[in-house]
Amino acid sequence: MATFNELGVSAQFIQALTEMNITKPSEIQEKAIPFLLKNQQDFIGQAQTGTGKTAAFGLPLLMKVNPKSNEVQSLILAPTRELCQQIAKHLFKLTKHLTAKIFVEAVYGGEKIELQLRALSRPTQIVVATPGRLIDLLERKALNLKSLRTIVLDEADEMLSMGFKDELSTILRQSPPNTTKWLFSATLPSALQKLIDTYMAKDTHTVQVKKAEIVNNLIEHQYFVCEERDKLNYVIQFINTMNAATGIIFCRTKAAVQTLTKQLQSKNYEVDAIHGDLQQKERDKVMRAFKSHKLKILVATDISARGIDVDDLAYVIHYQLPDMPEYYTHRSGRTARAGKRGISICFVSQAETKRINEYTKLLNIIFRKV
Ligand code: ADP
Ligand code: MG
Repeated sequence: MATFNELGVSAQFIQALTEMNITKPSEIQEKAIPFLLKNQQDFIGQAQTGTGKTAAFGLPLLMKVNPKSNEVQSLILAPTRELCQQIAKHLFKLTKHLTAKIFVEAVYGGEKIELQLRALSRPTQIVVATPGRLIDLLERKALNLKSLRTIVLDEADEMLSMGFKDELSTILRQSPPNTTKWLFSATLPSALQKLIDTYMAKDTHTVQVKKAEIVNNLIEHQYFVCEERDKLNYVIQFINTMNAATGIIFCRTKAAVQTLTKQLQSKNYEVDAIHGDLQQKERDKVMRAFKSHKLKILVATDISARGIDVDDLAYVIHYQLPDMPEYYTHRSGRTARAGKRGISICFVSQAETKRINEYTKLLNIIFRKV
């Protein structure tokens, strides 16, 4: 695993990153940053939500800006107002320790254009915009793109599904011919591929981060220390605080899965079990109920839950810690999908807290004691 320093990120940014609690590059950052710093080639970075794509393009973008020039040098297009604001804020935080200031402005629909006209009349090196509003501002000559060097299309798939295809084409056509294009997206649907084929270079460099390798920062890792005999009650308390949210409870053994399932069912919780002894038909039935959210809680062994892809899992409970530390990652990765937050909570004895420390070191996970 490389450090930000090894990726070529300069010290002032590393200081800002540290203050943002970002100390270790995510995979997309590791793959994108050195390439974008060194090359003028077009680039496609595909990675799921929550993998740190903003810094993956933001850091090289900021490092390539010439702060002495007041012209717009970079343009970031994003699908929504919230996203534009979020990106601008992220970049602003990254620039905190720079000696030569870089100015980032976010412009989007739904806000008085006069405010944005005034904002853009000040020196601005990076503009973050929704496609529609940018075109509006270009038509009013509020900004020009003649010094533009880089265009970033963030959440490109989302921009297309929101119907920004024509706007994107207009902007890409109007940008200077040697503008470098960086496209970031969670998926590459065929409509997006068409846009890529039309507007991006033949030698575009593409990197992909596969699902399993993602560092998911949306998972909150917790542990709770209790005696074995009180565990069931604390787990029930936790489930109650989650209201009717969907979750998985992991046990190490089949026997423990069966026992816990019966205990919870006897207290009228909508739970069912999945483990290796079940017939395929029974497993399918349980999984169907779980996926359709008719069944709220699934109690499972590690192996039986492998590959389960259910959206909207609010939590993962580790009723028993897994045999191997890597299993902890597989288990906790069941929650916090598609950009949603999730909790992964271990119920452990005092003696087992050393296993939590082990996960912290080995898996680079920070746990919160609750
Ligand atoms: P994406 O655009 O891929 O959905 P973001 O760039 O919005 O992801 O980042 C998601 C969250 O992860 C943000 O809160 C961000 O500050 C944080 N983050 C980014 N990079 C890292 C990292 N290397 N380590 C830890 N957290 C990170
Ligand atoms: Mg993003």
